[in-house]
Amino acid sequence: MTERMSAYQDKVLRIDCTNRTTRTEPLNMEFAEKYVGSKGLAIRYMYEDMKPGIDPLGPENNLYLTTGPMTGTPIPCSGKLSVAAKSPATGTMNDCSIGGHAGIRLKFAGYDIVVFEGQMDKPSYIVIEDDEITFHDADHLWGKTSHEAEKILIDEYGTEYSVLSIGPAGENLNFISCINSDYYRQAGRGGIGAVMGSKKLKAILIKGTKGLKLPNIKEATDRILEIFHENCLSEDNEYVFDEGTYAFLEACNDGGILPAHNFSAATDVNWDKYNGAVMKKYRLGKRGCGSCGLGCGNFMRVGDAICEGPEYETTAASGPQCDIVSIEHNVRYNQVVDDLGMDSISTGVTVAWAMEMAEKGIHDFGVHFGNEEEMIQIIKDMAYRRGEGAELADGVKVASEKWGGTDFAMHSKGLEFPQYEPRGSFGMAASYAVSDRGACHMRSYTANEEVFEASCPPYTHEGKGQVLYDLGEFNAIKFSCCLCDLWGSVDYAIMAELLTLITGKEWTEEDMSTVGRRVLNIGRAFNQREGFTREHDVVPQRLFKDPLKGGPADGQVMTEEGFQDMLSQYYEIMGWDENGCLPQTMLDEL
Ligand code: SF4
Repeated sequence: MTERMSAYQDKVLRIDCTNRTTRTEPLNMEFAEKYVGSKGLAIRYMYEDMKPGIDPLGPENNLYLTTGPMTGTPIPCSGKLSVAAKSPATGTMNDCSIGGHAGIRLKFAGYDIVVFEGQMDKPSYIVIEDDEITFHDADHLWGKTSHEAEKILIDEYGTEYSVLSIGPAGENLNFISCINSDYYRQAGRGGIGAVMGSKKLKAILIKGTKGLKLPNIKEATDRILEIFHENCLSEDNEYVFDEGTYAFLEACNDGGILPAHNFSAATDVNWDKYNGAVMKKYRLGKRGCGSCGLGCGNFMRVGDAICEGPEYETTAASGPQCDIVSIEHNVRYNQVVDDLGMDSISTGVTVAWAMEMAEKGIHDFGVHFGNEEEMIQIIKDMAYRRGEGAELADGVKVASEKWGGTDFAMHSKGLEFPQYEPRGSFGMAASYAVSDRGACHMRSYTANEEVFEASCPPYTHEGKGQVLYDLGEFNAIKFSCCLCDLWGSVDYAIMAELLTLITGKEWTEEDMSTVGRRVLNIGRAFNQREGFTREHDVVPQRLFKDPLKGGPADGQVMTEEGFQDMLSQYYEIMGWDENGCLPQTMLDEL
């Protein structure tokens, strides 16, 4: 039998939304040992709990809030919470990482995982306060924006509660809707807000007062503080506090991977009008998640527009992708999509595609390159499924399958591309294609090696399978530990030492590698069970047909053969067959 490890609460809370009942069960320690926590544990539970082929917006799709062993400890950058479900946008598994304080509060309430099963028959919100779980009518909140709803609830309950809420986009089951927390933190991708909306769950409040017991807290804290000062607060990570992800703007523009005009170009001659120096002029202050230590958030006001952000992705998606040069617009866009509960990446990419559709004379959705007001208006119409906005409400895959323009509909498996141009960083194309939740930069972030670090050449497919694997394995264990992506200098040795300190079980660097590989496999296995194979690991034809315009990668175009070769390299390293499938022997070991 698997031994108990400390730093877990040993408890899974299951909330039956249909019958408004709750029950608890012990955490499956075998799963915890094999998958550690957060991302890996969420996918393993999804694989166990849910039948293949279920409707992502039906009652059989569960919504998982999953912490990790590091959550609630003094370990830096450990305050994230994994939010997972089958995605309505892609049909794959989908795990998102949300910051703020909800993860720590959930752990302190006494739970490693909370599973929302079934669906309510009317708008509701749920309060989790230690052992007490209560169900409440949300008629007065339904129809309100996410920020309005959070304010009403915080005014009533108090700031010692964290609120996870959806906006109108989630209520209207949009495939590009997100979940918000602490106003400005999002579980953004894959329509996770629509899963919560399908349960008629407007909000979840969490308060925890139990804390977390570690047997060797003094020794652990002393060593954690040493690691924090030696490795986390290092020069490598200074940019996180200085600019946050905004720093990527200059790096991506200089490296030729800042996408512009719906992924037609990869540089913006106007980028210095909204770069980091401009951002700092409008920054009111810094914000961070619980247990952070780096504090990437930039709280900004430009004119009437106010938000925490915009992050690099949001800036690129709302600015150069749509030919709009205005930091005020970027901040307003961020504020509006957060408030309406929409994924800022998917929304921007979908609107940029609609702009190109009008430019090419294929269909006019009423939104055109360079027009800020039209852009803000169509986003509101998308959230409420009004007029032409309704045609765009489920993202670029659904819209392009109806209206055409699939060659330049920039998504993989229905998840819109993040803001890294693959023709300037060939590995990113394969990374988007094989990612477990569709196009994602949080899996194998090859742009870092190909462009920022220049440790491998960007414009070739050769050797990229190994790069994809190494980076994917690393992020799989990092996110299963529940560590923030932006602690960039953390490594296997530190993760293994931290886990050993807090769990009382000896973990090695090799174990980190083994768990990372296992997490990649369980994600693929979930999708394989849903019918995904090599034929679904695709990217839009634009990458093979249209040479990139401008910047260091000017004229670059990929070949289908080179792309397929990257997939084959990766499958072979993973031990999957040529069709990208795990053999039965690997499935049996999960
Ligand atoms: S670096 Fe940013 S996202 Fe990461 S934990 Fe800190 S505040 Fe949160």
